[in-house]
Amino acid sequence: MRSFIIWFITLFALTPAITSAEVNVYSYRQSFLVEPLFAKFTALTGIKVNTIFAAEGLIQKLQMEGRNSPADLLLTSNSTRLVEAKELGLTQSIQDSTLEAAVPSTFRDATGNWFGLTIRARLIYASKERIQENDITYEELTTSKWNRRICSRSGKHDYNIDLIASMIAHHGEEEARLWLKGVKENLARRPQGNDRSQVKAIYEGQCDISLGNSYYFGAMMADPEQQEWARSVKLLFPNQENRGTHVNISGMALTKYAPNREDAIKLMGFLVSEEAQKIYAEVNYEFPVRQGVALSPLLKPYEGFISDKIPLIDFIQYRRDASILVDQVGFDE
Ligand code: FE
Repeated sequence: MRSFIIWFITLFALTPAITSAEVNVYSYRQSFLVEPLFAKFTALTGIKVNTIFAAEGLIQKLQMEGRNSPADLLLTSNSTRLVEAKELGLTQSIQDSTLEAAVPSTFRDATGNWFGLTIRARLIYASKERIQENDITYEELTTSKWNRRICSRSGKHDYNIDLIASMIAHHGEEEARLWLKGVKENLARRPQGNDRSQVKAIYEGQCDISLGNSYYFGAMMADPEQQEWARSVKLLFPNQENRGTHVNISGMALTKYAPNREDAIKLMGFLVSEEAQKIYAEVNYEFPVRQGVALSPLLKPYEGFISDKIPLIDFIQYRRDASILVDQVGFDE
């Protein structure tokens, strides 16, 4: 009986503290990436973070829940979903000096509806053995030198759609079509698999170069089975001599009806802090969106690479056109 009373008093005393400070997150990003960060945030602030993880459907869930949604923060692994959430009216605009100081303007929405967290470059993986070049541009991939030497995943994948959209933004639709057709003609095999499968194909000698996101290098190095693939290639950041390498972001948006708005903004501020940015970038081998943060040792040699300065929003608008181009040139056939 006595222990019951103590238990009851304890529970009663703790309950308000637990329920009063919490943030609810809908995350397209995987739990291994964000759980360490949320744990740190809770330890620092006492604010609990509840998360729903899903690879698909979180935007639809937000939409269906409307005003009754418990979600405060949406985390995505690409810019497309951030823009989509904003266009559907699911986000709210915030003016916050911490976020604005930490996130360069090219990597956030001009009206504060979303903010980038990490940067990934879409670069060229090249065979160490068979490729002497150390600088290749995206544009050069159509030259006869690369005939039957390029491997690629589907042109319809988000990562390639964004790259093609950036080519449209830089060169116009007609030139981008010719470029895509040229790349297609230089493919060593029909597009298939993911970014890592292309590196495997280089390792096996099926092709000499491929396009892939930067963080897969670290991911392969961390996997005993894939390490050999990674060791067979070097990372070439395209267009360092001119407009810079195509990059994309993972990011976050405050939801329109965030019930725990103030605490959610605290969490957003924490996610762009030097401490969190270091962890974030290290766990997934990404580049921190905040300047001056130490990189993971694997990426250290690439510190300060020149990224394409075109704002995300200026190429994302061409995603539909990019998808049509992929069909028109029969990239995946
Ligand atoms: Fe990926």
